Amino acid sequence: MGLQLFNTLSRSIQAFTPLDPTGKKVGMYCCGPTVYDFAHIGNWRTFVFADLVRRYLEFQGYAVTHVMNITDVEDKIIKGVRETKTTLREFTGKYEAAFLEDLKTLNCVRPHQMPHATEHIAEIISLIEKLVARGMAYQAADGSVYFSIEKYRGCGCTYGRLLKLNFDELRVGERVASDEYDKESLADFALWKARVPEDGGVFWTSPWGEGRPGWHIECSAMSMKMLGESFDLHLGGEDLKFPHHEDEIAQSEGATGKPFVKYWLHGAFLIVEGKKMSKSLGNFFTLRDLLAKGFTGREIRYLLLSAHYRETFNFTLEGLQGARAALARIDECLGKLREVGRDALLRVQADQQVGPTRCLQQFSAALDDDLNISAAWGEVFKWVTETNRRLAADSLSANDAAAELTAWDKIDSVLGVGASAKIEAPAEIAALLEARQAARKAKDFKKSDAIRDELKEKGWAIEDTAKGPKLKKL
Ligand code: AMP
Ligand code: ZN
Repeated sequence: MGLQLFNTLSRSIQAFTPLDPTGKKVGMYCCGPTVYDFAHIGNWRTFVFADLVRRYLEFQGYAVTHVMNITDVEDKIIKGVRETKTTLREFTGKYEAAFLEDLKTLNCVRPHQMPHATEHIAEIISLIEKLVARGMAYQAADGSVYFSIEKYRGCGCTYGRLLKLNFDELRVGERVASDEYDKESLADFALWKARVPEDGGVFWTSPWGEGRPGWHIECSAMSMKMLGESFDLHLGGEDLKFPHHEDEIAQSEGATGKPFVKYWLHGAFLIVEGKKMSKSLGNFFTLRDLLAKGFTGREIRYLLLSAHYRETFNFTLEGLQGARAALARIDECLGKLREVGRDALLRVQADQQVGPTRCLQQFSAALDDDLNISAAWGEVFKWVTETNRRLAADSLSANDAAAELTAWDKIDSVLGVGASAKIEAPAEIAALLEARQAARKAKDFKKSDAIRDELKEKGWAIEDTAKGPKLKKL
């Protein structure tokens, strides 16, 4: 059947077919963090979802280019810079470093490119210039440049494809300067914001005078620079559908006349104990808050990955306890499999030849179905139960165990909960390998041969591969 995804653009499940004619390359953009504070677990639900999409596409053999921007200039950041009396870079640098650290803690694969808005001002200006040249943007009396929804629609383009909008309520000619506004305040939005005293030292020069970019144009400029004018996937949390993503489509298609993105994927929100997260309710958690309570990145990742991305997820601390117990079940099963499959596994890893197991097939069938992660976890736990039964009945050969462990490694390349099935050679053997390498480097071949023989006596062979020497259990 192949991978099927729910595309917000068509409001339907569609087969995933990349734009690349060879069907191999995939371009994927996820709106990244606004670095004005520590990311909270709601943000992390969305970023872990993006990580799942990337990992699963790679599991399916696609060559993915994953881009996640860093929004390092916008309204909230400027407010923070003003209030803390710091520079833009000092202020955002602290939160960006924390974000990158958290990304690692949650075992998210680092996106291939993480462009900063402040490093793409030239691209942003040239995109606005294109829109002005095409008559879709204009400078208003306040000095700012706005996107004209009326002109855009007049060119036969549709504004509001992600969300059904009521154009009878559209206030033609009215403008909204803020980056965030609701459907009811739909109006021409700012592409370039003229400098005002509150901006302090945060401004750049442009053909329209000093100022700074609006938030929406940042993502259009950076995504098209990194992935081309048309690309495959654009992700974000559901709150970004309007106005951010709607405006991204308008700016990009308005400037290029080409379809911007083929598939739009939106992750549903995370709520805490049934309520919207908010500082005043005392249910606001950053990743760091949860680590301080003694939970691990792996447990938090597991929980964030436990529900389907299009379902609102109710986060609870009990849920984290459940995550701990679930991971312990997986670890215990893997530990037993390692005992049985140890020697066989080392042979398998050297030869890299294992067919797909039933669990691996079912796991991938579940994820093909619009990333049905709950069903995928269901398959994992069915497998744990069945494997425990086979282990208890002593009906699992060493080769079977090795095959199951190798399949687990493939599964975990998607889940990333880090329960690796890999077996390292014992320290003594690894040390001998190192000594042999040193001897070879020193051209002491007599010694290196002697070490090779010693390893053989201990049951290990060395295979010299293009990537360096590998140990193989005899
Ligand atoms: P921000 O740093 O505010 O730009 O948000 C980064 C990402 O987190 C965006 O994709 C948002 O849609 C997403 N996001 C914000 N709050 C939540 C939440 N409570 N649950 C899930 N995603 C969220
Ligand atoms: Zn964005």
